[in-house]
Amino acid sequence: MYLEDSYLRECDASVVSVKDEKYVVLDQTVFYPKGGGQPWDTGKLIKDQETFNAVYVGKFSGEISHEVDHAGLKEGDKVHCVLDWERRYKLMRSHTAAHILASLLCNGTGALVTGNQLEEDKIRFDFNLEKFDPEILKEYIERANELFGKDIPVKWYELPREEALKIPGLIKMAEAFPPDIPRLRVVEIVGIDMQADGGTHVKNLKEVGGINVLKTENKGKQNRRVYFPLQ
Ligand SMILES: [Zn+2]
Repeated sequence: MYLEDSYLRECDASVVSVKDEKYVVLDQTVFYPKGGGQPWDTGKLIKDQETFNAVYVGKFSGEISHEVDHAGLKEGDKVHCVLDWERRYKLMRSHTAAHILASLLCNGTGALVTGNQLEEDKIRFDFNLEKFDPEILKEYIERANELFGKDIPVKWYELPREEALKIPGLIKMAEAFPPDIPRLRVVEIVGIDMQADGGTHVKNLKEVGGINVLKTENKGKQNRRVYFPLQ
């Protein structure tokens, strides 16, 4: 459900299976499973008066598995799912911010983004860049923050694979080549960027707020790791 509407915070669901008493598969879910550089959602599965905390969510063999903190759920149970919305919303803001940064850095510096990981309150980027100039980075932050003040819509939709792969810059990271499926999900920041992506995003750039630079680290001769916290 998170793929269609990233603003859904709750849903009803039925338990399809339970493995080792704590790995729960549901018939539908609002929980995002770890993947694509975006951490998993946390929250609660509520059955009658009992609350099971969802501490980890992953995707295994195509199924989304919710790890809960104690035993008791069984096949056929009806549950109400509630996200830790504060965490998820920050991840949505930082995911959209990461796309803007990747787009600016790739187009502007010719730097190749070699890795990208979202954390709850910051974005981590690794990029390959021979000449690394912190002053240039500041400029990019300023340009990004200008965009985060604008009313620019963010949309997501599916396209046939062949059509999607014709879009320039759709794949920004070498290791992030999309799975072999007939339709690809595209996240479009209107007029700025399009990326093949399975993550959750805010629907307007304004919601990002802004970013700072926390610190940069050298990771080898040409690799720089940079952390960008949300403002
Ligand atoms: Zn993404």
